[in-house]
Amino acid sequence: MGRRYYCEYCDKTFIDVLEARKKHLQSAHHIKMKNLHYELCKEPAVILREELLKTPCRRYFQHGSCQFESSCKYTHYSPEQLCELRQQVEQMEILKQKKEEAQLKIPSLESWLENYERTLNKEDGTTIHTPWVYPEMLEHRHDLPPSLIKFRPEHFHDDEFEEWGK
Ligand SMILES: [Zn+2]
Ligand SMILES: [Zn+2]
Repeated sequence: MGRRYYCEYCDKTFIDVLEARKKHLQSAHHIKMKNLHYELCKEPAVILREELLKTPCRRYFQHGSCQFESSCKYTHYSPEQLCELRQQVEQMEILKQKKEEAQLKIPSLESWLENYERTLNKEDGTTIHTPWVYPEMLEHRHDLPPSLIKFRPEHFHDDEFEEWGK
């Protein structure tokens, strides 16, 4: 038994000899299955754009079938189906836009502060919380450089101004 060739489009295996493969790849059935495969992979927006350019297939609408199927140069979509397809494409477009907008949404400074204050207010309102914690091991040391000493209100000496910012 020789090597076997598997055609993914047709889900068919046969002995892989050049002649047989060539014959298969040129067969109407294979071409049809291959076109169908790509038709199914297409984005609805692409299908809509293509179908809108075609005129209706008289054979298909008179006899209910057309041998060219999805590779027909005329459209097999009825006006109702095209309308449905258009709605589907529009729906997808809206969802896509919403997704993009959500990704772009960076919180404003105001909303960040509001959110920050809300988390502060959840705790005991009399203490002012800072997002960092002063290391306890430094609390009672007296040999620290000024930048490491825990900050207290009495450290202000030059506070003889009437209002902040003036
Ligand atoms: Zn095939
Ligand atoms: Zn047709």
